[in-house]
Amino acid sequence: MTPPSYEQGPIRPPSEAYSLLLRVTRNCPWNRCEFCHTYKKEKFSLRTVEEVKRDIDTIQEIVSGIKSLSWRVGLGGEIAAPLVNLILKDPQHDSDGFRQVALWLYNGSKNVFLQDGDNLILKTDQFVEILNDLKKTFPSIERVTTYSRSKTVSKKRIEELQDLKNAGLSRIHIGLESGYDPLLQYIKKGVTAQEHIEAGKKVKESGISLSEYVILGLGGKGMWREHAMETAKVLNQINPDFIRVRTLKVLKTMLLYQKIEKGEFNPLNDNEVIEEERLLIGHLEGIRSTLFSDHILNLLQEVEGKLPEEKEKMLKRIDYYLALPREEKDNFRLGRRAGVYQSVEDLSKPELRNQVDRSLQQIESERPGGLEKALSDLMESFI
Ligand code: SF4
Repeated sequence: MTPPSYEQGPIRPPSEAYSLLLRVTRNCPWNRCEFCHTYKKEKFSLRTVEEVKRDIDTIQEIVSGIKSLSWRVGLGGEIAAPLVNLILKDPQHDSDGFRQVALWLYNGSKNVFLQDGDNLILKTDQFVEILNDLKKTFPSIERVTTYSRSKTVSKKRIEELQDLKNAGLSRIHIGLESGYDPLLQYIKKGVTAQEHIEAGKKVKESGISLSEYVILGLGGKGMWREHAMETAKVLNQINPDFIRVRTLKVLKTMLLYQKIEKGEFNPLNDNEVIEEERLLIGHLEGIRSTLFSDHILNLLQEVEGKLPEEKEKMLKRIDYYLALPREEKDNFRLGRRAGVYQSVEDLSKPELRNQVDRSLQQIESERPGGLEKALSDLMESFI
């Protein structure tokens, strides 16, 4: 008999690692941002409420199947680690949602992330119906989050956002990327800084929690200052609950790569990105947001904290890195990208330091001057 399975999209935010993923729309209705390749070959489509509800029923069926399995292996219905390991190792569950649901149950079945790129494009009453069904089927759910675009959110009435909040939508993740209009146009974000502000303020007013994503390095050598300062200005007006930074890495599959090939876009190196990050954080004023650096591509993941009280601490961490001699920075960059270091403090651990030094020597002997290429390859391997 074919095991039950449900549809899933390709991505989720890093903060939703333990969330149940439920696909509400397919792909992205805009799909033109030049730094994004996630849905490039895919066509956008809405899923019907009935389709999504069927998936919710299927997930419920999988939950029952996992609980029965727990009884059969003598765990009394408990979703404990041995049961999850058993499911993770079973090749029968390579492609269905069994593993994901098992991990979700193991982690308390509290959070759900609605996929894909811009779910507020759904009619509000349909979105409310989906949320109601989800919460009714799984009363353990405490948080439901989704991605959306500022353009789409700015078209919703505040009452609609409040209806979504009352039906259980807890948080919207928005790709702000930048607050600098010429850069938003250049990367074809399809939204203005003013629309970002309007959308962000509406979400806040509705009581839904707001997470704004900023791309470090997006301004390249030509616009980095304006990118940092104008983005800070937009964030200062929105006052989002969360600011999440992630670092640009341009792959050949992204349209922005063609601009690099033509010599139009000059990417920043790691150290320049950190200068840009300093300028951004330095200009965040009068807001009560928490800044997260929860993306694997960020060099200084330890630069995180609450604003305003931890702003100086974040800037000090950046300044500590920027003041390191070039050899130390290179050692840290390689160690961090290779997963040897977690933070700059790890540079003071001799065993880790020596390990990275040996790798640096090996790169230099095999490919003199090849560090930047090695770092670039390591970053690509994460996306
Ligand atoms: S709106 Fe988001 S998902 Fe759509 S193309 Fe832009 S970055 Fe990608």
